[in-house]
Amino acid sequence: MTFYLRTLNGDKHTVGKTLPPIECFRCGLCCQCYQPQLSPDAAAAMARGLGISTTDFISRYVQMTTIGYLLRQTARGCVFLTWKQQRANCRIYAFRPDACRNWVASLSRRECREGLARLKAAGKIMLAKELYSSPEPADKFYSSLTGQ
Ligand code: SF4
Ligand code: SF4
Repeated sequence: MTFYLRTLNGDKHTVGKTLPPIECFRCGLCCQCYQPQLSPDAAAAMARGLGISTTDFISRYVQMTTIGYLLRQTARGCVFLTWKQQRANCRIYAFRPDACRNWVASLSRRECREGLARLKAAGKIMLAKELYSSPEPADKFYSSLTGQ
């Protein structure tokens, strides 16, 4: 199944599983870039997860748009994004939207590469050998950061 993340300026990002995955290192960039789209059923399920009414959930956490329900964003990203020890943390991880659940961290994703580049700039980069056990993906990792 294919899922989509949409931005209010009309960008549509397809979430697929065709790219080689890496373990998410929780830079939080994807949660700062996109507003996951929700079906009414998903909104109801998330409301149940939070122990509030669907009406309350929608009024507090949903942005109604011409393309449907989107999770609200604050200036710092998704309304459910928090930080623990400088790592992104989803406050509703156990019942996060399908679009988030199906988002796969990958070096082929611009967001993941930029997140790694941020860590590199902050002197907190992970070593490629911590991400991969073979040299080829590690080489790809370094190339992606330098845009080669
Ligand atoms: S719901 Fe959680 S995983 Fe999805 S964008 Fe928000 S913080 Fe990120
Ligand atoms: S951009 Fe990639 S590495 Fe960063 S939090 Fe999102 S999936 Fe994880």
